[in-house]
Order: sequence, then structure tokens, then C-alpha cells
Amino acid sequence: MVKALLDEGHSVATLDNLSKGHHKAVLGGEFIQGDLGDPSLLKQIFSTRKIDCVMHFAAFIEVGESVQDPLKYYVNNSGKTLELLSSMKKHGVDKFILSSTAAVYGEPEKTPIEECQPQIPVNPYGRSKQFLEAVLQDCREAYGIRSTCLRYFNAAGADASGLIGEDHNPESHLIPIVLQVALEQRKKISIFGTDYPTPDGTCLRDYVHVTDLVQAHLLAAEQLMDGDQGGIYNLGCQQGFSVRQIIEMARKVTGKSIPEIESPRRPGDAAVLVASSQMARSELCWSPKYEDPEEIVATAWKWHQAHPNGYDDKV
Ligand code: UDP
Repeated sequence: MVKALLDEGHSVATLDNLSKGHHKAVLGGEFIQGDLGDPSLLKQIFSTRKIDCVMHFAAFIEVGESVQDPLKYYVNNSGKTLELLSSMKKHGVDKFILSSTAAVYGEPEKTPIEECQPQIPVNPYGRSKQFLEAVLQDCREAYGIRSTCLRYFNAAGADASGLIGEDHNPESHLIPIVLQVALEQRKKISIFGTDYPTPDGTCLRDYVHVTDLVQAHLLAAEQLMDGDQGGIYNLGCQQGFSVRQIIEMARKVTGKSIPEIESPRRPGDAAVLVASSQMARSELCWSPKYEDPEEIVATAWKWHQAHPNGYDDKV
């Protein structure tokens, strides 16, 4: 996001406590190391800069962990964001973009999922974001803080430059783990659940490239800058791919055998999460460039091959 904003000529200040992020992933602009839940730091930041729009990405994102340790998710994802919004209100900053999630839908009634469908999250991660969406609606009505919630489906892939990509510790996401097996950093990929009501028994997900997510943020920011009230949009490619299909694609892209093992279901996983992204397409004029998940896997493979130890390697 920072890279794209700088390319578009914007000034960017990044606040990150580096509990999960990497300084080396921030390719320019101002970098402030600190915590979102620190009101005095927020006061200092907002009172010494003219900030048009806040984009919030600072969440814990592991579904399984959120089931094991829900308070970690409510404190970080929900609680600290309340501090941020309070500080924005005090300093008259009135535009906000939230990285929301398909997890707000829980087990959807029908797919592809439209934004108006019931939101009954099946894990604390989804609930931590659902709460924020409600808070943002209240803040719009009460304080005029306009906001857009972007409900990401499965964020994946890496910047085409190969300079920036995923580096989580521990890694829990399917594509990076499969590629770590290809790099022989892990012995095999565990398939979490093979008895789902899907064609091959494994979960179906809608994989969307990070560059396309970034593009949606740029469009959402423009919409808010034009005076729009903002909205809630699904971001996905409107196609579901199974865990087995993704592993097969990774075999093709990498030319490696990638051993697999069938394992029990992971708590908190919905069987099928596939977006309708018609609203983002018509209202934001968003159109994802990476609609073939094999290309998404290929960009991730470029990053993982060049940086087998993530940002600890030289960038
Ligand atoms: N998955 C898997 N093995 C893994 C990691 C993930 O089978 O080691 C499955 C997971 O159960 C889900 C899909 O891959 O059905 C995508 O999971 P991921 O954690 O990448 O994203 P999420 O759907 O949780 O946002």
C-alpha cells in the first residue's frame, strides 16, 4: 500500500509496532514505530501532521489462534482501533478505510456472498472485525467520520517486483506454507479437513491478489476524498478454489512434488467463502487484474524463492 501511494504521489506516514510487520516492507515515506493503542503517541502524530485519510491494516489475522485466544483479538483488533478513532475524532480527521474480512459472514447462506447477506461470524477474528464495522457506522452518523470497509476474501500473492511479500512468524496461511514445502523448509502440507460438503471435500476460498486489494484502497480513498460517505465492499475474484486445487497449482508453478497429508478440520473454518464483488466493481470501478490463482501463486513463488527467510534476507 505504501509503495502504491508513493507511486501515486501521496505523502505517507506508517505507524506499526512491528509485532507482526517488517520495517523493510515499508519502501518509503515516514515510519513511526509505536502502538496503535497508545493515545499519547496518536495525539502527537495527529497534532503534528495534516492527515487526509487513515488506512487501517493493523490486525491479527489467524482464525485458529483467534479461537484459542479470543481476547488477544478483541484487544488488538477492536480495542486499539477505538483509540485510533477517538484520536481521529479529537483531531478532526474524518476519512477511514478498514481492512475487513469475509470472516464476518461466517457460514454463508448462499454463494457467491453479497454484502447484504447475514453476518454471523464463526470465529473471534470475524467478530472482532464485525464489531468495528458497526462502530464505524455509528461514528459516521455521530461524528461525520466517513469510512469504507473492504471485506477481503483470501489475500494472497506478492508484489510483482519480488521486493515485498508475505513473511509471518509463525506462518499459518495456505499458499506460503505450500511454497515453504516446495522450498523444503517444511516436510509436507497438512490439508485441514477433507470431509467438507465441497466437490473434493476441502474448503473453497476466493483468492485475491494483494496488488488488487491495494488498488481497491486507492479507489476507496478517492471516493472518500470526493465527499462520498463510503460503504462496505467485498473484495474477491468471484471464484472458489479448493485447498487441493491450490496445492496442485503450486506443484505446477514450482515443479516440485509438495507432499501432502490429510488432517482434521481447523476450528473456525467455513466450508465455502466466495465473494460477489459486483458492488466494488460498479461503485468503486474496481477490477482485479489477477483472476487466475496460478498467477497469484507464481508471484508468491517469486518472492519466496528470492527471500526464503523473508525479510531477514537482504532486500
Ligand atoms: N489450510 C490448510 N492447511 C494449512 C493452512 C490452511 O488446509 O496449512 C486451509 C484452511 O483450512 C482454509 C484454506 O486453506 O480452508 C485457506 O486458509 P488460510 O489460513 O490461508 O486463509 P483463511 O481462509 O483462514 O483466511
